[in-house]
Amino acid sequence: MTFQNHSKSRLPVYDGEHFFFEMGPIRPPSEGSDQSLLIRTTRNCCWNRCEFCGTYRGEKFSLRPVAEIKQDIDVAGVLYEELQTAAAHRGPFPGVGPEVVRALWVSNPQLFGDNTGNLTRKWQNLHNVANWLNSGARTVFLQDADALIMRTGDLLEVLSYLKATFPTVTRVTAYARSQSCYRKSLTELTDLRRAGLLRLHVGLESGCDAVLKRMKKGVGSLKQVEGGQKVVAAGISLCEYLMPGLGGKELSERHALDSAAVLSAINPAYIRLRTLALRSKSPLLSQSKEGLFTELSEDEVVAEIALLVANLHCSSYLVSDQMSNLLYGVEGQLPQDKEKILEVINAYLQKPEPERMAFRLRQRQRSFLAVYGSLPESLEEQVEQAWDALRREAPEAGAQVDAAIAALKEGFV
Ligand code: SF4
Repeated sequence: MTFQNHSKSRLPVYDGEHFFFEMGPIRPPSEGSDQSLLIRTTRNCCWNRCEFCGTYRGEKFSLRPVAEIKQDIDVAGVLYEELQTAAAHRGPFPGVGPEVVRALWVSNPQLFGDNTGNLTRKWQNLHNVANWLNSGARTVFLQDADALIMRTGDLLEVLSYLKATFPTVTRVTAYARSQSCYRKSLTELTDLRRAGLLRLHVGLESGCDAVLKRMKKGVGSLKQVEGGQKVVAAGISLCEYLMPGLGGKELSERHALDSAAVLSAINPAYIRLRTLALRSKSPLLSQSKEGLFTELSEDEVVAEIALLVANLHCSSYLVSDQMSNLLYGVEGQLPQDKEKILEVINAYLQKPEPERMAFRLRQRQRSFLAVYGSLPESLEEQVEQAWDALRREAPEAGAQVDAAIAALKEGFV
């Protein structure tokens, strides 16, 4: 298929060097599969000190000028128009398929044939916009770690420009720190909601002050509650992320109870569990190796979650939609599903130890395969040996299963 630029095409005004928009490294799973257009309003994390986090280590934070963000939106807008027109020329087949993306790419060597080192991100841009179009072009996610760190006026300008460029957009979402939610006034947050910012994803991690201090989270529980309550009062859908296991063995109980109290006071629309995983670039990994932090076992994490759930008094929707969590069944609408969720947890905890070991190994293996499709040879061998030890009821089965799970978890994203 040959791609024809349509008569109103804005492609010719761009040169190859500047024809891309920036994309940051992460987004929440609920904005995943390219269902959201990714627009980077800030680069990296303005705090970047949390002990458990390695996502932006070594990366410098910067606010992006509004003019630059608008240029990115323009580029996304041009790709949106061109892909849409190309798809329409193909006739009745609905959507933007890989042939349309490839045709746009090869038909514009002046934009995509350059050698400026931006080819990968141009390719990612095209795929993001194409997939976004295929899912209805309704949601936009503002990257990176804390869009609310921007001046409210600047953020409003970006939101208004997005709406003007993409009339199909019905929801804009972003990550935000609790500290930034706390700093914004209710009026500012309400203005942002009216301008289209309809959901915020906030990494609460813990509601326990001792854990927050130990992990250098840069905020305390009182500000978390005040900031979260303001977001809710402004009518913005709030998704709070909690990290089971973050208190380690020492602070596990306080972590569960204080977090339950903070989440109950905020009453966010969603509570998402992200069990602690020691990430390669995080300081907590080295602290753990030096014996300065003691991780909970998988079963201890499950028991901690049970304590948390039993003490939640809110009407949030609880979700475990990430591979770091062992029990995906810990999900439901509170308060009515609380007993059902606790039953899922207790059913696991009451299994005999060999069954729990087999469950853990199977679950972690499945999660790994869901992302990578297959296991590297050495890992496959290690996992097979663990299964074999389990089947033989060998005395070393526990140690082998734990080691295999630890190796599998190293690949978790
Ligand atoms: S957890 Fe969030 S606030 Fe903390 S360093 Fe990582 S990105 Fe920044």
